[in-house]
Amino acid sequence: MDEFEIIRRYFSTGYPAREDVALAVGDDGAITRLPDGEALVTVTDSLVAGTHFPVDIQPDALAHRALAANLSDLAAMGTQPRWFTLALALSEPDAGWLESFSTGLRKLATRYGVALIGGDTVRGPLAVTIAALGSVPEQAWLTRSGAKPGDSIFLSGTTGEAGWVWQEMADGRLPVTDDPLYRRFAYPEPRVEAGIALRGLATACIDISDGLHVDLGRLLTASGKGGEARLDLLPLSADLVERVGKVRALELALTGGDDYELCFTAGPDREGELQALSSAWRLDVTRIGRVTAAPGLRWYDPDGPVAPPVQGFRHF
Ligand code: ADP
Ligand code: MG
Repeated sequence: MDEFEIIRRYFSTGYPAREDVALAVGDDGAITRLPDGEALVTVTDSLVAGTHFPVDIQPDALAHRALAANLSDLAAMGTQPRWFTLALALSEPDAGWLESFSTGLRKLATRYGVALIGGDTVRGPLAVTIAALGSVPEQAWLTRSGAKPGDSIFLSGTTGEAGWVWQEMADGRLPVTDDPLYRRFAYPEPRVEAGIALRGLATACIDISDGLHVDLGRLLTASGKGGEARLDLLPLSADLVERVGKVRALELALTGGDDYELCFTAGPDREGELQALSSAWRLDVTRIGRVTAAPGLRWYDPDGPVAPPVQGFRHF
């Protein structure tokens, strides 16, 4: 199979078609159109074998994670996803592998109606780079930098499950592929609908890719603010607590990474609205703290300040 055969068989058909695409795969470049009054938002994420995923990961999970990571970045920007490109480096083209990879990619792309409009296919150590593009009405985008003192800090879903799976794999244990915790790692759900609905509601937003403590810290720093957050309010996955106990689950929830949940701030008067949206999304949203004028992110439990577990999980 040469490069052209790979593109023709796996990356040309079966992906969502969109009216805003004038020209997609097959020419030297793609041509797309934005609605009047909307701004273009572009994100990119690369996954390299051995660094970001184990080489023997199921190909459909690899494709899912690569696209989901990008859609999650767009969600954090309050952006409607429209298109994506795929740059794929393969050491040895294998039909079964490509079939599974492209099936995973088509499935998630179809769920969110994003069109594959181009890319590049090269020989080399396995790596996947996706760039996703979307649009947001002028000035309605979400950023990390708008948090105000007194805002509440919210988190969607739960964190820590994917970090636990990483830990297990780094310790040489093979994942059980139908384990719900493994599925949180392999098939993360980007919070696209929530991100779009948070326009005009959240004052700042970030997606959790490197761990809640680190990423919330980034949001607060970008906003020039600090925060007080409560360990005892952190939502924990019951499955995770059952597996590793509450103490370890909390540590993973703070430091795990690859969660692709949204962490955002909003005025304290917006909580009712948020809870109504949360039931519509069927996605829990939990208030975990508040924004302060004083810099730094401090953690508390009901008895007072606590040191967050700063070390924990690391990518291998
Ligand atoms: P060029 O040499 O002009 O860059 P290529 O031969 O690399 O063109 O690619 C031909 C067409 O196939 C282009 O439209 C390119 O965007 C697309 N393409 C290449 N690889 C992929 C891929 N992995 N997924 C989707 N489209 C791809
Ligand atoms: Mg090319």
